[in-house]
Amino acid sequence: MNTVLGPIAAEELGFVAVHEHIGYGMPGSELDTRWWKTPEQRYEETVPKLRQFAEHSQPYGGPTFVDATGICNGRDVDYYKSLSAKTGVHIVAATGFVGGDTALRFFADAPVDYLMRQFVHEITVGIGDTGSLAGIIKVGVSRGFRMKELDLRIYRAAARAALLTGVPIFTHLAVDVEPALAVFAEEGLPLDRVLFGHADDGVSQGKVNEAAILGGGGRIGFDTFGYDLELPDPPFWGRHRRERLEHFLRLVGEGHVDQVLASADANCSPLGWPGVKGHTVNYIFEQLIPDLQEEGVDEATIYRIFVTNPADFLTLTTN
Ligand SMILES: [Zn+2]
Repeated sequence: MNTVLGPIAAEELGFVAVHEHIGYGMPGSELDTRWWKTPEQRYEETVPKLRQFAEHSQPYGGPTFVDATGICNGRDVDYYKSLSAKTGVHIVAATGFVGGDTALRFFADAPVDYLMRQFVHEITVGIGDTGSLAGIIKVGVSRGFRMKELDLRIYRAAARAALLTGVPIFTHLAVDVEPALAVFAEEGLPLDRVLFGHADDGVSQGKVNEAAILGGGGRIGFDTFGYDLELPDPPFWGRHRRERLEHFLRLVGEGHVDQVLASADANCSPLGWPGVKGHTVNYIFEQLIPDLQEEGVDEATIYRIFVTNPADFLTLTTN
């Protein structure tokens, strides 16, 4: 398993927040003066959250924070390395793109083979000159809830890179999944190497073909836990807390516990947008796990959701 400070064994991952962000922003946001933050300000905002995450994780081992940011969205691996060294949190960095519409022109015009080589390079040689290897590949659906040609080109490149390197794939959004499933099938990538993310958000409901994902052996991401409509200023993708929880419990109750992964998709320090106040990675410990316990989910199941299953998913797997 690749972390920004080097490879670690699956057993060392411990508690995994599988889809999070140190800081996510749209390409170019770093040039918007309204949102400039000094490195010191970002550091000050981020370190206490990671330290708290490390403390909460102690009973489970770890902790591991998977940064699902990708190329062109503010990914800053030297910064992640320093955060990891300071807080003891394992940080996994992503190659790939959150969606075709955040890929800068240089990549948007590139053929599948070029994109595949870029991903493989970041996984096996390093991200830029940082010497750190990417541990996941991010892909996604552009705005509008429909897969575009560029999205599919990135999915295909990601599938090929995943097969060559053994790194798993995360998707941004699980809507319009049929073309994605077709690409993975054509490339011969087993679906347990893919986490179909944001299947739990408020705007995706009714648009996710869960039966096709689960039936094919794919994994479903309940990774926007905490973007609750009960927040003082909820985002447009928010959802009622009870409704999301019941949705999650339904899949667990139907026997899909090894196909679901949970996370908070929070920003430690957002880039170029205000973020969502009051929402951090620590929601997992402060609200989600207590909610699960109250609903009678036992410790062994919680361990599977946050330790065993993510370790299985993140472990480099080549067939
Ligand atoms: Zn995310």
